[in-house]
Amino acid sequence: MRVQQKIFQMIQDFETIIIHRHERPDPDAIASQCGLKKILQASFPPKKIYAVGSFNDSLKFLARMDKKVNDEVYQDALVIVVDTADVARISDERFAKGKKLIKIDHHPNDDIYGDLLWVEPTVSSTSELIVHFYLTFKNKLKMTTEAARLLYAGIVGDTGRFLYPATTAKTLEIASFLLTFPFNASLISRELSTISMKVAKLSGYVYQNISVDENGAAYVLLSTKILQSYNVAEFETSAIVSLPGMIDEVLSWVIFVEKAEGGFRARLRSKGPTINEIAKRYNGGGHLLASGANAKNHEEVQKIYREIQDVAQKWRNKQ
Ligand code: AMP
Repeated sequence: MRVQQKIFQMIQDFETIIIHRHERPDPDAIASQCGLKKILQASFPPKKIYAVGSFNDSLKFLARMDKKVNDEVYQDALVIVVDTADVARISDERFAKGKKLIKIDHHPNDDIYGDLLWVEPTVSSTSELIVHFYLTFKNKLKMTTEAARLLYAGIVGDTGRFLYPATTAKTLEIASFLLTFPFNASLISRELSTISMKVAKLSGYVYQNISVDENGAAYVLLSTKILQSYNVAEFETSAIVSLPGMIDEVLSWVIFVEKAEGGFRARLRSKGPTINEIAKRYNGGGHLLASGANAKNHEEVQKIYREIQDVAQKWRNKQ
């Protein structure tokens, strides 16, 4: 039996389903989680379906989490974790308390967990995967306008509005299908790309202070002092991570953001050379061209940047 069939069967077998995703959620994490929740609620009205995990209000235009999910609810529950490659990044550690566990994801399958796993690293987003799942069982599942709105937002978010190479003909076909539902797609795109004035000013700092070497390897470091001077919290920096990619001379880049608890979060991106192997060496991981890692101190910051410089140089030499 194909894994999707087994997942569908397991969903049918459980009365309570709790959907988790990764910590520090991005639009695709929230959208795939809550899009799946809306589809299952509409398709199986008697079932109790919950979405849980840490949340910050910047994505409240998409959805909110269910607050009152007590530990006892997990006893007879099926837990589905979406968009999360490794166990360490799953938000809300109670995910392990359910009766069965399913992983649905589009990151490289570096950490194999769950009773059933459906992982498709070449698919643009977990939201796109959820639509694939819906289409496979469309005779038994119901898509709603709200689910379509969420899943469209997740695809737009993870593809950078259809910019990144993971965008395929299938992605556009699925986006086109979602647009047949009467939600306001241009509002979603605007909500996803709107930034606050303080983040706009921080963007200016990024462009002013980015260092780029002769092969297009770039980095910027946002210290706590700088973040404080722009009144921007660490979690608000996600909007600026893609900015260096707009510069012609930049090939691969890393933005270091100092963490309140010490050390630096490293956010790596690339237009060509793969950078996820570098991220894995520094307590991180992710996609071939978009990864996250952690630097313990300034020395590791320099090491990560040197590794980015190496892959950029090798890439340029091959061109
Ligand atoms: P970010 O720069 O935080 O937006 O992360 C980009 C991508 O890298 C995410 O979609 C995750 O797949 C991955 N990622 C980020 N941080 C980590 C981490 N600590 N461990 C594994 N993967 C990560």
